Amino acid sequence: MAFHQYDAIIVGAGGAGLMAALYAAKGANVAVLSKLYPTRSHTGAAQGGIGASLGNLEEDNWHWHAYDTVKGSDYLGDQDAIEVLAKMAPEVIYELEHMGLPFDRTPDGKIAQRPFGGHSRDYGQAPVRRSCYAADRTGHMILQTLYQQCMKENVTFFNEYQMVDLIIEKEGDSYLCKGVIAYEIDTGELHTFHAKAVMLATGGWGKCWSVTSNAFTLTGDAPAILLRHGLELEDMEFFQFHPTGIYRLGFLITEGVRGEGGILLNSEGERFMERYAPTMKDLASRDVVSRAIYLEIEEGRGIGGKPYVHLDAVHLGEEQLMKKLPDIVEISRVYLGVDPVTSPIPVQPTAHYAMGGIPTDLDGRVIMGVEREPVYGLYAAGEVACVSVHGANRLGTNSLTDLVVFGKLAGQHMAKFADEIDFQPLPKDPEGWARGEIERLLSNSTDEATAAKIRNEMQESMQHGVGIYRTDKLMSETITKLKELQQRYKKVGVEDKGKRFNTDLMEAMELGNLLDIAEVTALSAINRTESRGAHARGDYETRNDADWLKHTLIRRGTGGGYEISYKPVVITDFEPKERKY
Ligand SMILES: Cc1cc2nc3c(=O)[nH]c(=O)nc-3n(C[C@H](O)[C@H](O)[C@H](O)COP(=O)(O)OP(=O)(O)OC[C@H]3O[C@@H](n4cnc5c(N)ncnc54)[C@H](O)[C@@H]3O)c2cc1C
Repeated sequence: MAFHQYDAIIVGAGGAGLMAALYAAKGANVAVLSKLYPTRSHTGAAQGGIGASLGNLEEDNWHWHAYDTVKGSDYLGDQDAIEVLAKMAPEVIYELEHMGLPFDRTPDGKIAQRPFGGHSRDYGQAPVRRSCYAADRTGHMILQTLYQQCMKENVTFFNEYQMVDLIIEKEGDSYLCKGVIAYEIDTGELHTFHAKAVMLATGGWGKCWSVTSNAFTLTGDAPAILLRHGLELEDMEFFQFHPTGIYRLGFLITEGVRGEGGILLNSEGERFMERYAPTMKDLASRDVVSRAIYLEIEEGRGIGGKPYVHLDAVHLGEEQLMKKLPDIVEISRVYLGVDPVTSPIPVQPTAHYAMGGIPTDLDGRVIMGVEREPVYGLYAAGEVACVSVHGANRLGTNSLTDLVVFGKLAGQHMAKFADEIDFQPLPKDPEGWARGEIERLLSNSTDEATAAKIRNEMQESMQHGVGIYRTDKLMSETITKLKELQQRYKKVGVEDKGKRFNTDLMEAMELGNLLDIAEVTALSAINRTESRGAHARGDYETRNDADWLKHTLIRRGTGGGYEISYKPVVITDFEPKERKY
């Protein structure tokens, strides 16, 4: 058995994990585990930018940023957390700049900014330029910059180590996290990582759906492990569909295209967003634009009768496109054979971002229940966490801001916590569950059920039943289907029985996680009988603050099913009102 001991273990090497590692390393001995090589994390795919009210091109301030975020969240975001996000955003951007991040510049040398959906001046009066960017490679630059800084701080990296379990124990009424069990992909060996503090920064779970912008590795491993240990997840019904994925493939075409002036057109050549959002038009919030595209297609105005519309950026001209959006031009040319310089890009909404996730407080500590009891030694930040700054719908550019702001706060708190406590004794066989599960998958026959087939059926069922528009009937069908797939999963086997780079085995384990996450998403969704943000129901079309201005919490019950409870939304400055863009 391979054994390691660190003050702080961070699982995930995206923007959130690396920012936390950097800050934890200032006071603790830190290791980062990642199933990918760090710079391949999904943060590296972020194109459009990172939001902060620098006001470099016109007046802006953090109050307006906070208001836009609250409104974007359809009033489900916790306003104390949103205040922290909006206030700290400029400070962390300058920090990244001083670390060497090569932001684009204004002619007078300041950080350049571009408009993005839902970001406005003066409480919704007109769009504002708030997104700081490095061409359409912002996330790539953030990841490279933070990785270099982590090297400088002597953070230890365990690359291509996949977390398969957490060491969590219940003592009295409190939960305590003592470490991580990881599978070394190169050798097939299990490792125990004993830690005083563990942070989960594993990103999202777009792979529950068939059309997604997410990387293959975004399979919700951490939240699924927590469910298995009896802990709660928050607001799982809220999953964002980004309006502009490449038709059929789902790859993302950044909102930055519309930020720079690109427009959406239906089969009649009409700029239909003028009808749905007279002020913000193509730059309304994502839930609004995705639903508009969906309705245009449903009403027969998809291009050539097919389920897509056009994103037209031809009028921007080749020079602007190549300077500001070079990767988008290349993605379209390579994957679609469409040149955005001369033709509009075929787009459809794509499953993109998890607003819900692991509940945390402002220091990134994982918390449970209405009383917000901390799980000692356990932290979460980034897309996997729900603090909740995005509520029912995230605004573009606010995820990268969330990663660095709450990654920093969590890292700082971890160092302090690790300094105050001793290592807690480990249970007798911490690797027991992981070993058993791996043996089961290796010994099952593959004739019974293949992981690939179950995954495809799950993704199709989620796309159809728990997608942009939901109804009781569609969601019930998906829940029934998921139950059947869970049964079939028990018999799943893997063909590769070897130890080295057994991706077959790891994918089968990931599928187990995806199935659990899909199920709690569908159950949380069918339970919420209203429409709010990304959760739009055909059978309950309006927002219902009287009954539903609250967060959903879901956990595994004693009988094997799931139990739902609620916790109130934190409201400080902005009383809920109807959203208009
Ligand atoms: C195509 C695309 C474009 C985007 N553009 C923008 C944008 O312009 N602006 C914006 O604000 N947001 C954008 N987003 C959203 C944003 O990029 C993500 O929400 C954010 O990068 C997530 O960062 P993270 O640190 O939480 O996790 P990620 O960057 O997703 O990293 C997850 C890490 O966890 C590790 N991991 C996962 N599971 C395990 C496991 N079991 N064991 C070990 N390691 C594990 C992975 O190896 C990886 O290192 C975009 C998202 C996509 C998909």
